[in-house]
Amino acid sequence: MNSIPPLDLTQQYETISDEVNAAVLAVLASGQYINGPIVADFEQQFAQYIGTTECVTCNSGTDALFLAMRAYGIGPGDEVITTPFTFFATAEMVTAVGATPVFVDIDPDTFNLNLDLIEAAITPRTKAIAPVHLFGQPVDMTRLMAIARKHSLLVIEDCAQATGATWQGQRVGSIGHIGCFSFFPTKNLGACGDGGAITTNDSVIAAKIRMLREHGSRQRYYHEAIGTTSRLDALQAAILRIKLQRLDQWNAQRRAVAAYYSQLLTPLPNLVTPTVIPGGEHTWHQYTIRLTATDGQTTRDGKVRDRVKSFLQAQGISSMIYYPVPLHQQAVYQSLNYQPGQLPVVEQVAHEVLSLPMFPELTPEQQERIVYALKDSRDQGMFSP
Ligand SMILES: *Cc1c(COP(=O)(O)O)cnc(C)c1O
Repeated sequence: MNSIPPLDLTQQYETISDEVNAAVLAVLASGQYINGPIVADFEQQFAQYIGTTECVTCNSGTDALFLAMRAYGIGPGDEVITTPFTFFATAEMVTAVGATPVFVDIDPDTFNLNLDLIEAAITPRTKAIAPVHLFGQPVDMTRLMAIARKHSLLVIEDCAQATGATWQGQRVGSIGHIGCFSFFPTKNLGACGDGGAITTNDSVIAAKIRMLREHGSRQRYYHEAIGTTSRLDALQAAILRIKLQRLDQWNAQRRAVAAYYSQLLTPLPNLVTPTVIPGGEHTWHQYTIRLTATDGQTTRDGKVRDRVKSFLQAQGISSMIYYPVPLHQQAVYQSLNYQPGQLPVVEQVAHEVLSLPMFPELTPEQQERIVYALKDSRDQGMFSP
């Protein structure tokens, strides 16, 4: 039996290879590899797609977060409220600019920040909230922006997993003060290498980010700040320009895959399918289930989930654990002194989550095989009596 990978980038490439190959060769022949008209054009198209006046590309989603925080002057003494259930870069860049991440527990159904807990975490040092639209599900931005406005806080959206997702009809990355995107190959809009972007309606901040990404210079060889070098290659921009045209179609395919999973998996006791909150359009970067209990016992140590994962793997089905260790429990953040049980929901959920294979080209037959294997593991009593 063929194995089923967590995702497969080659199938997507095959569908657009003629166009991509021609675009890549044209860039190679042009001699313009950094900045230039193709990058400018992609920035304009991406801003238009997201619904902002500005887009500035950079080398990665990580750099997008870094440059956004630098541009807003976030630094030593400042606190940024964020989620402990995200890829490390979100908090890492808060620390990288000299500020302190303040982790707030999550909602177990959406995996996103629990907005009820944000106000209690705000201190006089709080500068910003950095919500993450995890797995492609938008945060309730109406509520989050109301909290931010009330306390005069910046909102830096981490949209790395949610390119194209909307909240109340507005694309994420256009609702907060600034949106940070990743074009890492596995993301919904992925380049053939590293890439990232920020989107904003603030032209002063956009200009500042352009300055920072070019060694702190607006005019070449005249430097006004310590910046960095962080640009999107013209090759990647040429590829992304082609892929952006198909993003909505690919996201629609992901939604169909997710809907079929949820149909096949409902109702299986102790297996929780992902919740979609009304008001948002999810882009299904991941389809993540929770295995919650067996025989009335909780899965505190993650062993139930790990057994199911191994069982699937033995049948050639790759599933993934996003994320096994909440960020407040990472070794590097020991100095922040979070106590075990302080963020109980995320500590529990990290032991329960399992992300099933998810990519636009996943077939119904493959999904049926995956679900059959999950039901088989249930029949063997792995997560249900
Ligand atoms: C991928 C990702 C990033 C980092 O993006 P890179 O392009 O890999 O640097 C940041 N935040 C989240 C939530 C991500 O998933």
